[in-house]
Amino acid sequence: MDADRERLTGLIARFISFSSKYLPDDVTAKLEELRRAESSPRARAIYDAVFRNLELAAELDRPLCQDTGLIQFFVKAGTSFPLLDQLEGILREAVIRATVHAPLRPNAVAFFDEKNSGDNTGRFTPWIDWEPVPGEGLKLYVYLAGGGCSLPGFSRVLTPLEGWNAALEAVFERVSTLAVNACPPLLIGIGLGSSADTAAKLSKKALLRFIGERNPRLPELEKEIEEGLNRIGIGPSGLTGNASVMAVHIEEAVRHPATFALGLSVGCWAHRRALIEISAGLDYRLLSHKGKTL
Ligand code: SF4
Repeated sequence: MDADRERLTGLIARFISFSSKYLPDDVTAKLEELRRAESSPRARAIYDAVFRNLELAAELDRPLCQDTGLIQFFVKAGTSFPLLDQLEGILREAVIRATVHAPLRPNAVAFFDEKNSGDNTGRFTPWIDWEPVPGEGLKLYVYLAGGGCSLPGFSRVLTPLEGWNAALEAVFERVSTLAVNACPPLLIGIGLGSSADTAAKLSKKALLRFIGERNPRLPELEKEIEEGLNRIGIGPSGLTGNASVMAVHIEEAVRHPATFALGLSVGCWAHRRALIEISAGLDYRLLSHKGKTL
């Protein structure tokens, strides 16, 4: 069992390190599409710099952005996965190893005394979101949440009377002001629900969905907001251009008749979200980076 624990820890450490250096297929494809469609020479030059950045990260085996974020895991955990009861410790140890080997910038600072742990772990860090599912395998998302992009999210509980118009206004206001702290083009996650916490969590989960996949209940709404945000003309790096966003993803829950909660999470062009499937025998498949191995 110790050998299996060691094997899984090493695999997940390599997975984290890999995800800091290589963008997922869907994000790369979207950036290529936006570069092709861009009509401004300055914006095209910025996309060229982005792709040069990606080439150099691969060539030099270095993270593709200096802010490697705080590590967040979203686990769909098979209830019969053999190492389930050790998984929390394994994830923590994997973060410590990836911090050394990638290397990742140590970003975990104690809330009040501001002491940096030096290894990207600390109280509730890495953050782990658990979803038990039937079966023997695991699906594990890792998300490198940067200090300028998805960490400074936003959540607000409106009244039903204020409703959808006020929610939309808040989204446009945030994206056109504070969200420019994140390097555009942006991935916009909108969560809708009953409370500040459910809406915030759904907005983050919206960022996990692959670009190109629509919420089957709200495809037109996602597209309309996307088109509206693109008309603002933020462009890559915020220096104007055709596209402000890579996509808008909405996840919704039911709400209480008295509440209308909105959550907003923003991903940047360096959207380091990776997904791996791990079997009970510890074989793996990278679902976000097809054909790649760790
Ligand atoms: S917003 Fe994204 S690309 Fe820009 S510095 Fe932060 S992590 Fe890096």
